[in-house]
Amino acid sequence: MRICTARCSRCLNCVSQCFFNAISTASHDLVIDEALCTDCGMCRDSCPMDAISDEMHDDPVETAEQRGICLYLTATAGRLSEGSLEVLGAGLRLKEHNRQRLTAFLLGEYVHEAAEEAIRCGADEVWMAEHSRLTPYAVDLHAGLVTDWLKELGPSIVLSGDRSLERSVMGYAAVRLHTGLCADCIQAAIDPQHEGLVVTRTAFGGQLMADIHIPRHRPQMATLKEGAFRPPPVYQPSGGLIVNRTDDISGLNSVYELLESRKIERLRNDFANAQIIVAVGRGIGCAEQLDSVYELADLLDARIGATRAVVESGWLDVTHQIGQSGTIVRPQLYIACGISGALQHTIGMDQADRVIAINSDRDAPIFQYADYGIVGDVRQVLPRLSERIRERRAARSRNGMD
Ligand SMILES: Cc1cc2nc3c(=O)[nH]c(=O)nc-3n(C[C@H](O)[C@H](O)[C@H](O)COP(=O)(O)OP(=O)(O)OC[C@H]3O[C@@H](n4cnc5c(N)ncnc54)[C@H](O)[C@@H]3O)c2cc1C
Ligand code: SF4
Ligand code: SF4
Repeated sequence: MRICTARCSRCLNCVSQCFFNAISTASHDLVIDEALCTDCGMCRDSCPMDAISDEMHDDPVETAEQRGICLYLTATAGRLSEGSLEVLGAGLRLKEHNRQRLTAFLLGEYVHEAAEEAIRCGADEVWMAEHSRLTPYAVDLHAGLVTDWLKELGPSIVLSGDRSLERSVMGYAAVRLHTGLCADCIQAAIDPQHEGLVVTRTAFGGQLMADIHIPRHRPQMATLKEGAFRPPPVYQPSGGLIVNRTDDISGLNSVYELLESRKIERLRNDFANAQIIVAVGRGIGCAEQLDSVYELADLLDARIGATRAVVESGWLDVTHQIGQSGTIVRPQLYIACGISGALQHTIGMDQADRVIAINSDRDAPIFQYADYGIVGDVRQVLPRLSERIRERRAARSRNGMD
């Protein structure tokens, strides 16, 4: 916030409006202390002289001048990471709509093969820096290079995944480029009216979904929640270029030094390849009742998911949690057992091909997402379901159909 001293009549309305005592009257010209100001805008709205303005709003960049989509990708063992493939898929779909050039950035110790993979997937260009100093821990080196490259290319849209390196690099770059960053997005599209990016994410503690437009600042930056986007549908080589920019790191130094690294068991349930998920909610009643869930999951060769209520009750660990603060899944079949269907949960499963919901309350919101609904007590329905599957299989094998 900034006060235009030429316009200010010193009525002090703004001072009384500021809950944070951020406006100092010590000198004749009023001054806003940036360290205290929260940018709430109360002073601006109360000023009869229109003397207070939001500096960010006053100086928008010329949005039409910035063109192109840039993706900050990561690779492991020479392959694009799963999250990066999804970012690439999202970028390609945006490109279908705005027809802008798609440039991927890849930085690391061994990224050449991943750069070729990105080209095979359809990137127009990959800017690559391959050097032993570019470990995933050298956040400042990654961030410095990405920021310099973004300044050079002047894109309109910048996307990345949501792992810690990507979040750190994107945050750093957004600050340096005087723009914002929308994190944890679960959808991204081009707004047909304004041609800008519109991203969707939860807001107000997950109570609602917000579509966010960025009308005045460029680039429009977003991190995409892993699991929410599809990888490129088919390999669609564009005849793209790999540009080796490794020399760009010569002037950069990292404050980080890797002293030791230790492998820890990754706390993650592998839902990525799960075709069937049996997910359990508080309606199951208690941990002992999970046996019927395990039984059905075994029969169907399914993974077991859970709501946060189940995780918080200590019946299953957090690696099973599906939803806004858990994993986003996209199985062929999702069986929701005793789950109410809160928005924070359905965000994680509404892309399943088929959903079966079992709930004793016929008005439970989960039925709005279900292709098939069973109104009943999950503790009775699950054993009967398993029994029927066993019977059908036995009959099929008797008839020589298996
Ligand atoms: C910021 C934030 C993030 C969150 N993130 C997540 C997240 O990632 N994942 C998530 O799941 N939640 C998340 N939540 C919590 C979410 O809002 C819900 O509280 C949670 O999903 C509810 O879990 P549930 O459906 O198991 O329990 P409940 O809402 O208690 O529902 C239990 C359901 O079981 C049914 N039922 C009861 N008994 C039986 C029975 N015998 N047979 C059949 N049905 C029965 C009831 O009718 C009811 O519909 C988050 C919340 C916040 C605020
Ligand atoms: S924007 Fe809000 S916090 Fe900042 S000076 Fe104005 S009233 Fe105070
Ligand atoms: S409200 Fe406006 S005119 Fe009044 S003191 Fe504040 S800046 Fe000046």
